[in-house]
Amino acid sequence: MEKIDILISGGGIAGLITAAAFGAEGLSVICVDPAPPVMEEGAAGADLRTTAFLAPSVDLLDRIGLWDRLSPFATPLQVMRIVDAGGAQPVPRLIRDFDAAEIGDRPFGWNLPNWLLRREIAARLSQLQTVRFLPGTGTADIVPRDEGPVVTLSDGTRLRPRLLIGADGRNSPVRQALGIGVRTFRYGQKALAFAVTHDVPHQNVSTEVHRSGGPFTLVPLPDRDGKPCSAVVWMESGHETARLAALPPAEFQVALNARSAGVLGQLQQATPLTEWPIISQIADRFAGPRTALIAEAAHVLPPIGAQGLNMSLADLSALVDLMRADPGNADGLRRYDRARRPDVYARLLAIDALNRASQAGARPLRDLRAAALGGLYGIAPVRRLMMRAGLGVS
Ligand SMILES: Cc1cc2nc3c(=O)[nH]c(=O)nc-3n(C[C@H](O)[C@H](O)[C@H](O)COP(=O)(O)OP(=O)(O)OC[C@H]3O[C@@H](n4cnc5c(N)ncnc54)[C@H](O)[C@@H]3O)c2cc1C
Repeated sequence: MEKIDILISGGGIAGLITAAAFGAEGLSVICVDPAPPVMEEGAAGADLRTTAFLAPSVDLLDRIGLWDRLSPFATPLQVMRIVDAGGAQPVPRLIRDFDAAEIGDRPFGWNLPNWLLRREIAARLSQLQTVRFLPGTGTADIVPRDEGPVVTLSDGTRLRPRLLIGADGRNSPVRQALGIGVRTFRYGQKALAFAVTHDVPHQNVSTEVHRSGGPFTLVPLPDRDGKPCSAVVWMESGHETARLAALPPAEFQVALNARSAGVLGQLQQATPLTEWPIISQIADRFAGPRTALIAEAAHVLPPIGAQGLNMSLADLSALVDLMRADPGNADGLRRYDRARRPDVYARLLAIDALNRASQAGARPLRDLRAAALGGLYGIAPVRRLMMRAGLGVS
């Protein structure tokens, strides 16, 4: 049975970054995933979402030697614009800009396509002698023990890591093997994710348009075919996303432009639609004997305020600090759970409330939402507090 420092179950973006982080610490790392990463935009199964990395996450990516590879492809996010279009007609009736310049001298974050992240992070892993990334191999069996789990991989290899990290998604096999339960909040919602080109330049402004069904978000990307380009996340009830996805292209185009309320002029769909189920979920514990859960294995949030993967990188930052000297130490894992779970839970409740407010269909509720946004925005200290809280800095 091979002994290693760290076994990471799951090579999604969170698992890959985790491998790079512990590998950079000089620890021996194996990262497994039964699904090889799709690393081209046009390939079948490509993840066409983008990830907005907030400033604290970028600092971590820099420390672990990833940011130099990623920064040439990243688009800065200087302003978060909230648009309420919840009146009688689908047009903007309230626009509020949260400008990063008000709280510091850096943008809020930087946006990158997920397929490209997989390509660049996998390339970085291949440079690290400490890391073995095994796409096509999964964790098949986990026997939890106080002295450390025994893990059998799908190719029959047995491993006894000092620390097992579950980064294996919302249905995490590691979490299930440890018998850790979850609390799940359902919204009956899905998100359509795709890219658009548009007439009006985005000027590094990320725009969230609220009417009903959930937010419609445009996140800046580099120009495409000589035209300004943005990533769209369009949240609606599952029935509505199914209807939209089945529309002929010309009718989809009309629906798309009605929902965007014209904030960037005419939008033109530039990539196929991908559909993502939306839930909130939190694990009852983030750690067990010589085992830690991170990212969606520990928490899932609706894509509002770019919290999902950014919280995962906050998990990772804490875990690296507590584990670098002695991976799997029980005291460090207890402290990891105590440090991360309350912060995640507070954010989950806040995002849950924002999502439900954005779903509101009835006019009085939509009017109340607009009034609350206008009122909170108008109080400068509250506005700055909201911006700092969104970034995860005090
Ligand atoms: C539409 C949308 C937009 C988003 N935008 C943002 C954003 O802008 N900013 C942000 O911070 N977050 C965002 N998020 C959230 C972010 O995308 C997720 O937090 C992140 O992708 C989850 O990554 P993960 O690695 O935890 O999970 P996953 O991507 O689900 O990866 C889990 C991996 O585990 C593997 N696995 C499963 N079983 C096994 C096994 N037995 N053994 C080994 N591996 C296994 C799977 O194959 C998979 O590759 C968004 C989410 C959505 C839905």
